[in-house]
Amino acid sequence: MNFFSDWFLAPHFSILVQSNEEFSKGKEQPDGVSIQLISEYYYSTHSEQFQFPTTFSGTLKPKNLYPLNQDGKSFFYIIPKDEPKKLSFELPGKPHIISHMGALLSISLLQQGNKFDSLKQFYISFSEDLKSFIEFEKYEFILGILQKSISNKVFKNSNKYKQFNIIFENSFMNKEVVNKANAISDSMCYTRSFINMPPNILNPESYELFLRTIVRNECEKSSSPNHIQIEIYDYEKLKKENCGLICAVGQGSEIKPRLIKLTYTTTKNLSKTPHVSLVGKGITFDTGGYDIKPSSGMRIMKKDMGGSASALGIFFACARLNLPMRLTCWLPLAENMISGNAMRPGDVFKAKNGLQIEIDNTDAEGRLVLADAISLACEESPDWLIDLATLTGAARVGLGTMVDSLFGNNKLTSQLLYNSGIESGDWVWQVPLPSDYDAYLDSNVSDFVNSGSSGFAGSITAALFLQKFVTVPQWNHIDTYMWCDKPNGLWAEGGGATGKCVRLVTRAIETFISK
Ligand SMILES: [Zn+2]
Repeated sequence: MNFFSDWFLAPHFSILVQSNEEFSKGKEQPDGVSIQLISEYYYSTHSEQFQFPTTFSGTLKPKNLYPLNQDGKSFFYIIPKDEPKKLSFELPGKPHIISHMGALLSISLLQQGNKFDSLKQFYISFSEDLKSFIEFEKYEFILGILQKSISNKVFKNSNKYKQFNIIFENSFMNKEVVNKANAISDSMCYTRSFINMPPNILNPESYELFLRTIVRNECEKSSSPNHIQIEIYDYEKLKKENCGLICAVGQGSEIKPRLIKLTYTTTKNLSKTPHVSLVGKGITFDTGGYDIKPSSGMRIMKKDMGGSASALGIFFACARLNLPMRLTCWLPLAENMISGNAMRPGDVFKAKNGLQIEIDNTDAEGRLVLADAISLACEESPDWLIDLATLTGAARVGLGTMVDSLFGNNKLTSQLLYNSGIESGDWVWQVPLPSDYDAYLDSNVSDFVNSGSSGFAGSITAALFLQKFVTVPQWNHIDTYMWCDKPNGLWAEGGGATGKCVRLVTRAIETFISK
């Protein structure tokens, strides 16, 4: 679908693996250059190996490319020895540092590549100490290169950079490593692309068409072509299924709400396979409804479907990695608009699980669509239920844009996500769920209101609201931002989607199913 490919973000690099012989020949060709990656420590102890051209003078600075000869065919690049400290939080995970190393290299290579018309191939080799540092997380290094090379500007005439190949020797990188990096990177591209799409392009209807295209493509690529299924709950079906809350949120828009269910499984014996369910908030645009947002708060509300985009990114990553599991992904999609049909403060709606919810604030719509989707997901009794949502401003006030608020009803899976966050750099911090705050959700006319009466603890009352619909013993809720405001994020340029939570949750699921 052209419509989709117009808006699809892709890296400016492709990664290839070659035999020693091809590698040596290739870098001599006119369109190739070789880049040696050297740690600062290695350079300081082996500097005699590196012969500079006579034109070179000045002090060496890490993160720059330096020429090794005068024909512009050979460079080296220094990885600073204190980079880990500068680049991460207090307790850095090694995979996170390694993907950062890849990300920084990516910027240098793009800048270098764009200086030459004929350059198409970068041949990369490593100093011995770097090889051993990267050894077990090579795919994180490649992932850093790929994701950092992505520009948020999708249209060709605004693309700053050209397309290049990065080539490694197969004695160090193998195809499995590259496949894994591509699997995660492509899935993050799905997530970032959906979030960046403008709200006149992405709505509940086109979201379905885009996803059908992706499912078809992913099935064609796979050796087991029916491993992914897509099922649509349209407006009529949602009414039939008593999903009164999803219907309420979407009733103000001309484009009616819907729910998309994706399933992936590798086996027929479902009872013995670990089952994980994902639920993602998919408000394709949030005006706030009659409790309308101020213009400053509405400006980036196209990203209010970030939870659903994360969930689908995680879903396709797990499917591409062929994880031995059953995975279900529930995406409730709606547009929160204002019209004669829109819900009002004071309206009461019946949820899928029978609870009657009074609308206190029409801008607290995300938890409503999530609630019905969580009820549907729980009917299948998954071993682990994870919901993701750009849910509350309170979570950002508490922890900022780069650390997500994590909630849950058990220690084991919360710890799994916390650890995975340290490793992947997609940080989460667990916030408690004190039932004392339930009183904030009391309603005079129904079971609960949808928004807390107190100005305090907004992210906690939102999570407490969701918990009323959870019937499984292992549940986590991630309140995430999904957006990079300033150009200081790991992957994104300022003003764009981050692809956050894809690595976090995929890594945690890999550990969960291996136990
Ligand atoms: Zn809202």
